[in-house]
Amino acid sequence: MKKTILTGIRPTGNLHLGHYFGATKNWVKLQDEYKTFIEIADVQALTDNFDNPEKVRKNVTELAIDLLSVGIDPKKATIFIQSQISEIAELTVFYSNLVTMARLYRNPTVKTEIAQKKAIFGNDGESVTYGFVGYPVSQAADITAFSGELIPVGEDQLPLIEQCREIVRKFNNIYGVTLIEPEPLLSSNPRIKGLDGNEKMGKSLGNAIYLADDEETINKKIMSAVTDTNKIRKDDPANPNKCMVYYYHKLINNPNLETVCSECKNGSRGCVQCKRELINYMNEFLKPIREKRKYYESHPEEVEKILKDGTKIAKEKAESTMKNVKSAMKIDY
Ligand code: SF4
Repeated sequence: MKKTILTGIRPTGNLHLGHYFGATKNWVKLQDEYKTFIEIADVQALTDNFDNPEKVRKNVTELAIDLLSVGIDPKKATIFIQSQISEIAELTVFYSNLVTMARLYRNPTVKTEIAQKKAIFGNDGESVTYGFVGYPVSQAADITAFSGELIPVGEDQLPLIEQCREIVRKFNNIYGVTLIEPEPLLSSNPRIKGLDGNEKMGKSLGNAIYLADDEETINKKIMSAVTDTNKIRKDDPANPNKCMVYYYHKLINNPNLETVCSECKNGSRGCVQCKRELINYMNEFLKPIREKRKYYESHPEEVEKILKDGTKIAKEKAESTMKNVKSAMKIDY
């Protein structure tokens, strides 16, 4: 029998190349090997956007279209909306008794994100909500509600899986063996750099290429990408490893990569020509994704049905887990 994997993504904007190469490309492969649940984590998105529910709501459909466009197949993978599975919220409450505040604050992922928030909003901790500190608990609920056995993660997310495993062990010790302890399914999860050379591609950084970008947008974005600043004139030799244009040529597997590299190094290639070439390859790369997006955009009823059907399947699974949990906790009145 196929093992179950659970993965998810917050609907806070369209998917960009960072999401694609860091996660969803891998999910497309995994859906053939595993029973796959993909959660559109709208409740988690609200931890940071509680004052902007319209944004989250709009992005649920957008995200579903992005997932379908990259090749997630609803016949193979169950795509569902987190907020529609009330069992996740119930489990979060039950699990909150099994973890201490000190342990949550020690979680390296939480620690890093709190430090980032304090750096942005000031050092008084006023920007850190109870819901934010507790999100590893709700994540444990996400995983266990669907008996997730394997969780595709990168190294940086291992602490969240370990936190979930601790909660499961504690639950099973106190109430009897009920929940499955998930294992991480480590993938390389490469972090994709932004057009400006920033280590991270992100909406707030304004340096992302989105899967939904049209040709004109791609043109503008790539023309503004950071190149080797030592190359002033067209025939100056340059270092491709200091250039984001070369970085993206490599990322999308330009078959002429060696030529780009050698011509850049010996000064026989100008940056404008090099960018134009990248624009062509990027548009070719995005073409099948754009075509699928166009189809789903013009068939919103199909997207709605996929989400409804997926959510129904997920709900049934979570209800069955909840029955066992409540029985173990002696609250099955
Ligand atoms: Fe970058 Fe191409 Fe210019 Fe070299 S020629 S610096 S790889 S854009």
